[in-house]
Amino acid sequence: MTTANKPVYDHVLTGGTVIDPASGVNAVLDVAINGATIAAVGSGLAEDAAKVTDCAGRWVLPGLVEGHTHIFQHVSKVGAPPDEAHLRRGVVAAADAGTAGASTFAAFRKLIVEPSPMRIVNFLNVSVLGLIDFRFGELMNPDTLVVDDALATAAANPDVVRGFKIRLSEDVVGEQWQTLLKKSLNLAEQAGLPLMIHIGETSEPLPIVLDHLRPGDIVAHCYTGKPHGILDGDQVLPAVMAARERGVLFDSAHGKSNLSFEVARRAIAQGFYPDVLGSDTSARNWHGPVFDLLTSMSKLIALGVPLTEAVARATVRPAEVLGLAVEGYGRLEPGGPAHVTVVEETAECVLPDAAGNTITAPRLEPTLVLHDGAAVETVPWRGLPAA
Ligand SMILES: [Zn+2]
Repeated sequence: MTTANKPVYDHVLTGGTVIDPASGVNAVLDVAINGATIAAVGSGLAEDAAKVTDCAGRWVLPGLVEGHTHIFQHVSKVGAPPDEAHLRRGVVAAADAGTAGASTFAAFRKLIVEPSPMRIVNFLNVSVLGLIDFRFGELMNPDTLVVDDALATAAANPDVVRGFKIRLSEDVVGEQWQTLLKKSLNLAEQAGLPLMIHIGETSEPLPIVLDHLRPGDIVAHCYTGKPHGILDGDQVLPAVMAARERGVLFDSAHGKSNLSFEVARRAIAQGFYPDVLGSDTSARNWHGPVFDLLTSMSKLIALGVPLTEAVARATVRPAEVLGLAVEGYGRLEPGGPAHVTVVEETAECVLPDAAGNTITAPRLEPTLVLHDGAAVETVPWRGLPAA
């Protein structure tokens, strides 16, 4: 800093390894911030800064984007608190995956989307009821799939509704899954939006379901250990590879009961990484086994997904899928919003999957979270023993 002049930058994060898959950057660089905006990414920027944060030995990532969560707190039994579960653990944008339906969307908007500093979008449940209480499948009465209501809600809320969601478990759709799926795909087509489907406990094998899907549609829970998953023995099903080939997307969506380390390990060994690395956080799992998005990333990294690939799938890829890349989410771009998540690797710890199996691996832990350039108060990992 020259003594006569004002510093050029408000804040510079220096010495960390910047991983920004959107621009291909993976190098020790400085990130300079002015106000709520990223001013520059480069070398030697700390000399011109009013404030410097040493990030040596850490990774400097774009603010994380959660592609699959349940945050309709106070209304749905599965709703986790949005900011506590996500923002304070390094996530700056999140997509709720079908907790709200057309009849509850106004409350979702008012109670969740508007008060949160995070950018929140959703996949609207095709049932007008949404996922209020997991004990009662929202499509057991198939008349709750009201096409006109879903379309009207999506049309009136294009800033939030970025797709539709149908859970295809037998206890949600009963015997009528094909009829309900076709109706859902039809309405998604009319709205020009993707459909996310939930697998694990479908009544028929996955290839039969995949046959229906269009490029851009999303299969949640790709590493589920429940029946009718993506594997045949050790191998990823040819129908799954073919679906990916034609543009169907796969979301890891860990959840309370849908990540099997065994399935994930085998699929990852064949290079089958999720397109979207979602945690499927909910009130049922945010104190374990999911905890948060960074912990879901840590598990898949431990099972063989390279760090940069995991980061891409929790930043720029979901931002693109959710239409948030145009708002600057998921990347560290000069001129873009200063959403930054700095992480360090912890010592090895025990991490569970959804079936109670464990691995021992290091974990990614946020040390600094910037939202619009301002530091967010983080909270400790919820897997730590009570003090
Ligand atoms: Zn979910």
